[in-house]
Amino acid sequence: MSFSLSCYRCGERYEDTARVRCACGEPLWVDARPTAFSWDDCRNRDGMWRYEALLPIDRPEGVARAAGGTPLVRSPGLDDVAGGRVFVKDEGENPTGAYKDRGSAVAVPHTIATGDDVVGTVSYGNMAISTAAHATSLDRECLVFVPEGTSSVRLELIAQYEPTIAQVSGEYGALYGDALDLSERLPIDVLVSDAPTRISGYKTALFEICDSLAPETPDVIALPASSGGFASGVWLGIRDLESAGLIDESPRLCLVQTAAADPLTRAFEDGATDPTPMSSDETGDTIAHSIGNPDPPSGARALAAVRDTDGAVVSVTDDEIRTAQRRFAVDGGFCVEPASAATLAGVSRLAERGELSADESVVLVPTGTGFKELGTGGRDVATETVHRADLRDRLESLLAP
Ligand SMILES: [Zn+2]
Repeated sequence: MSFSLSCYRCGERYEDTARVRCACGEPLWVDARPTAFSWDDCRNRDGMWRYEALLPIDRPEGVARAAGGTPLVRSPGLDDVAGGRVFVKDEGENPTGAYKDRGSAVAVPHTIATGDDVVGTVSYGNMAISTAAHATSLDRECLVFVPEGTSSVRLELIAQYEPTIAQVSGEYGALYGDALDLSERLPIDVLVSDAPTRISGYKTALFEICDSLAPETPDVIALPASSGGFASGVWLGIRDLESAGLIDESPRLCLVQTAAADPLTRAFEDGATDPTPMSSDETGDTIAHSIGNPDPPSGARALAAVRDTDGAVVSVTDDEIRTAQRRFAVDGGFCVEPASAATLAGVSRLAERGELSADESVVLVPTGTGFKELGTGGRDVATETVHRADLRDRLESLLAP
């Protein structure tokens, strides 16, 4: 299937589908702008391929077929904490436990169909795991760049798919530009966080949310924000549905950052169009390492998405994230990674500020499972050992009202 790319900011169009950024400097995305699409046109297929008509490639082979199709769960136990009527779009149920699979499901098969290059990516974790899984399922070699010092737990998760893993020292943030350069000079296609084909895969999360709730449209959608790629994809999905006449009023996009690295929140509060990269002196450690991005490559586009939808960007602390992660588990039954828990902390901030009311629907999008993080939090769990002969007596006292 042929497609072209365009720039959200200046409108320039490109036929070279390997291109990532516009001459103006902003990231590109895949044009769709459907005018004749209805929910009845969805295909009778699993996962995100239900929306194949709106995607730039036909359904591929491999693990891509398992991507998307995650549940949207009404979760009333979280209403009080959030301050709205909560739905949870559990992206942790993708094949590698993260929304990244939606992007890999389009980007990896597309790049494989267009040449013999090795598939590569630059990632702290989830995107490396996902890209490696999708590449190997199509029998293609994969190369991942991870930062020096990546934990052995994460390396093991990536290594199970047997990609070549390069731990890179030096300024990790600069690798984004290096990766684009390497893609031009070597037989490798590095699929960065905002590769246009990735972004088009992400929009299927928005389609699924709106398809599930149709004819209603959610009032607010809350996402963790790092590179700005996922927010871009969700915004692209909103634009597609508006163009097709399937939604009248856009959901307000709420992006949530960690206070340890929040260039988008700062730019939003300053009224700036472009985020200012944060230096290492200005950033701190966080448990939400999936979103600790001091220089988001799609940051300006994510800010445009928020302003276009009348949304907001907020930052939350690690303490708020820990509390939210517990609430997700205890009140909702969901195991989410810290970056994902940030969404709950973020919307409760909006509610406190009067920007979300109790009767409004809010979709929290935990983008990654917490199961990959277990054992890394250093938390002791207190339990009691009881001999089986004493179980009945002990339980009687434990369960006594
Ligand atoms: Zn442009």
